Amino acid sequence: MTGVAGTAAQLHAIRQAHVAVVGGGIMGAMTAAHLIELGTEVTLYDPHRLGSGPGASVDTGRSFRVHYGKDRTLVSHAVRSFRLWKAWEQKLGRPLLHATGKMLLEEPGDRHAFESWQTMRKIGLPADRLSGGMVAQEWPGFKAGAATVDRLGGVLEPHVILDALHVWLKSRGVHFRGEAMDLDARSVEDEQARLHFDAVVLTAGAWTRRFIEAPVEVTRQELVYFDAAALGDRLNRLPVFSHMESGFYAIPTAGDGRIKVANHHPGPVGHPDGDDRKVTPAFEQAARQFLGAHLPELSEAEVVRRHVCFYTGTADRDFILDRTREGLVIGAGFSGHGFKFSPLVGRLLAQLALGLKTEVAIDRFAMHRQALHGKLIRLAV
Ligand SMILES: Cc1cc2nc3c(=O)[nH]c(=O)nc-3n(C[C@H](O)[C@H](O)[C@H](O)COP(=O)(O)OP(=O)(O)OC[C@H]3O[C@@H](n4cnc5c(N)ncnc54)[C@H](O)[C@@H]3O)c2cc1C
Repeated sequence: MTGVAGTAAQLHAIRQAHVAVVGGGIMGAMTAAHLIELGTEVTLYDPHRLGSGPGASVDTGRSFRVHYGKDRTLVSHAVRSFRLWKAWEQKLGRPLLHATGKMLLEEPGDRHAFESWQTMRKIGLPADRLSGGMVAQEWPGFKAGAATVDRLGGVLEPHVILDALHVWLKSRGVHFRGEAMDLDARSVEDEQARLHFDAVVLTAGAWTRRFIEAPVEVTRQELVYFDAAALGDRLNRLPVFSHMESGFYAIPTAGDGRIKVANHHPGPVGHPDGDDRKVTPAFEQAARQFLGAHLPELSEAEVVRRHVCFYTGTADRDFILDRTREGLVIGAGFSGHGFKFSPLVGRLLAQLALGLKTEVAIDRFAMHRQALHGKLIRLAV
């Protein structure tokens, strides 16, 4: 099958196909969901219920943003993803993306913040540059020198999204199976059997290298959750905020009255299997300092949770969306910023699995691109 799905013969072939998805984090779930929408039979392998387990998609808050400096391609993919999230809100019948805005704290002469604002404005997207006074006026109690605000930004709730997707996929006949022990481009083996498929999609996050040699590295990222109930109603409207140079960012989750603080720069190499998930006192102290510098009334806030999560990163911080010569479809290397793009990624992986033309060009995400073997790039947050 090649070309955009359209002819009767193609639609028939899509409906006859049976695709396996190995890995039920957000990327696997969204791939399965789009395959189901196309009418394909799907078997989804994961040892855990969607939204639970040790994967990267399990948490209470993920930042959504459209700003990506001068990178118009990622801006355009983020806008497309924004629309897809809105469509998923309709399908799942609940809000998924809380439109709080995303604030980029600015240093004097900050090129990245300026370029982010400029790129968004040039293509007619809502973004503002605010002085410290304007920030405090809009969000009383918030301290910033200056900031760029991406008005399409906000907070996604992974636990809500994956739980709803689990129910949706189940009600549409997806076959759920456990841990995959072995796979190739046309079959997957678990403890019970080796089953054969028309295509296999691998979305196993930090476990990708159990199955294929992929140029990805897994790094350990620390997270500290502060009690922010003292902010009262202001917590509902507080934007995600981040600082490019230090890498620190904060995600308010009004649902549980908390603010999560973490750092986007890749941490030490690690792996979820066997990690004690302990946060170092030095990191907790740095997280508190970041929060207190911008929300002084939370400088003594209680820490209500400490956790460690793992990025599966590439050297250029772009994803891997590709098909091997043998035909195995791979979605990996989401480098700590993939969640927001997942509805689009799911469509692209589903299109690859069915041999369809992808709706956006994916050459940039090829597994054998040179940049995957180059210097590590620091992605702005
Ligand atoms: C701390 C942290 C903060 C982040 N913040 C943001 C953010 O603010 N905004 C944003 O857009 N992105 C963010 N990201 C990135 C985003 O969360 C990830 O890119 C995304 O969740 C990756 O999803 P995934 O499905 O590829 O991997 P995972 O969610 O890890 O899923 C992989 C799945 O594979 C399963 N699996 C493993 N082995 C097997 C096997 N043998 N058989 C079957 N299944 C198997 C696992 O159980 C797991 O469910 C963050 C990531 C982390 C870790």
